[in-house]
Amino acid sequence: MNALRSTRGFAAKIVVPKRSYNIDRLSKVYIPSGGKIASKEDTSNDLLTRAGYIRSSHSGLTQMLPLGLMVQKNIENLVHKHMKLIGGSEVSLCLLSPAELWQKTGRFDNDEVFKLQDFHGSGYVLSPTHEEEITNLIKSDVVSYRSLPVRTYQIGRKFRDEKRPRGGLLRGKEFIMKDMYTFDRTKEEALKTYDNVVDAYNELFHEIGVRFVQAQAHSGDIGGNKSHEFHFLNDHGSDTILTCTNLDDCGYAANIEVAKPGIDEKNRVHFDESAGDHIEFSVSKDGLTLYEIYIPRNRSFNRLSLNTDIFPDIDPTMNSSKQALHKYKTSESQGANVEKQTIRVIDSHIEMTSVAFNGSPITIINATLAIPNDPCPVCATSHLQESNAIEIGHTFYLGTKYSKPLSATYVPPSGKSAIDIEMGCFGIGITRLIAAITEAKRDSAGLVWPRIIAPWEIVLIAKNNVFKDLDGGADKLGKELTNKLQKQGLRVVFDDREDKSLGWKLKDSKLLGFPVTIIVNENYLTNGTVEVQWRESGEKESIVLVDENGNVNEKLLNF
Ligand SMILES: [Zn+2]
Repeated sequence: MNALRSTRGFAAKIVVPKRSYNIDRLSKVYIPSGGKIASKEDTSNDLLTRAGYIRSSHSGLTQMLPLGLMVQKNIENLVHKHMKLIGGSEVSLCLLSPAELWQKTGRFDNDEVFKLQDFHGSGYVLSPTHEEEITNLIKSDVVSYRSLPVRTYQIGRKFRDEKRPRGGLLRGKEFIMKDMYTFDRTKEEALKTYDNVVDAYNELFHEIGVRFVQAQAHSGDIGGNKSHEFHFLNDHGSDTILTCTNLDDCGYAANIEVAKPGIDEKNRVHFDESAGDHIEFSVSKDGLTLYEIYIPRNRSFNRLSLNTDIFPDIDPTMNSSKQALHKYKTSESQGANVEKQTIRVIDSHIEMTSVAFNGSPITIINATLAIPNDPCPVCATSHLQESNAIEIGHTFYLGTKYSKPLSATYVPPSGKSAIDIEMGCFGIGITRLIAAITEAKRDSAGLVWPRIIAPWEIVLIAKNNVFKDLDGGADKLGKELTNKLQKQGLRVVFDDREDKSLGWKLKDSKLLGFPVTIIVNENYLTNGTVEVQWRESGEKESIVLVDENGNVNEKLLNF
């Protein structure tokens, strides 16, 4: 011990040199201009390319340049904050995932999954998502109910063998995603977790400041039976959603693939197969009950409407009428007293009396997907309208879809047999969000970033020729003012690019999308005022930058 003490006494004092890592001059940042000629048909990708945020390396592959990466990091920081606020523990899983895990869950054969082999011939997947990996990881550590709940998340690269990549960051083969995976003891707890994460998503997107909607959604290939999508409503979006015309008060929005119509008693049709009305089929799990579903003309059957809440014995794995009919015809009754039967399900848009009575039980439900102008299923007083939308996030309650095939179980308090863990997964496309925000906020002059994710909140330009007699000229003054604003916590950059004119810089600051441009001109020397241009509103005003007490103008601190 004494020896240790004496050694410590001689320890050299380590001096950490003070250095500022703030980038505060645009001339120091790699912002290649060009790359794309401006046109009226500029996509968000063209605009980001032209402004020097990104470059395309190949179809479906996009490189991030410094400004693009700054926006990406700002979004990531915001996402980290909201995930940590709900108890998310950050992890970083391997991008290579053994093929056998994917074979167990039946997702290996998905043709959008990149597959590869190592030197020894072992198969791998380049992960498009991490349900398999995280479930496999958690199951090796969670054995008791005491270890649950667990909420893990990561922000990282994902890969998808996109057959038709488009829109650059919107739909590429490689992208950055935030994915959260949650593990709970019971369905009730998992659904509470689900609501908790959905609330966090609402707060996160609200903070970004672009109008969004939360829409009911189909689980798709991920699985599970409760799902929502988050969208920006935008004419250029590739998704179609139906929203209540009174969206702000009612809140109903759903992907057109799952949207339900409200009851419309006035517009019932007389069932007539020659007019296009038709019958679809589904079947019970034991194959002995056939469901005949009567669908009116011009409407699509919503297979999800025949769920186990209404028909507990229905087989949810049936994807088509043909498949259901085949199962019914080939099923065999195991007991002498069990006979095959038919149940007729009539969509509520059909007059029940127009379907001939044949002794089979009849149930009336909303069996079709909603179409524009249908009554809203929630408020009933308004109607549904169709909008294009860009998806920015997706949430899934998974139940035991992954824990069951991967044997992820825990031992309950009773200590009896192990129970499958209840799961949820929650994605946000980080790089996709950059393109979506670009699309939602852009104007004819260029990008318009919300303050919280802009590379810099403010760009400061000093009019060169005005300050040529000043000690150090425009460069010294610009640098000093930039540092003064930075000390107030503002993210400010000085546009010190020497070879560019004031007009060019102003045009470029609009193209690059900084929320505020400050122009320091001759007035600064006489009365301390500068011109401020607000990017989103286009308004210009003259303000005192710093008052006699050295305080920075409130307008710049609280915009
Ligand atoms: Zn409504």
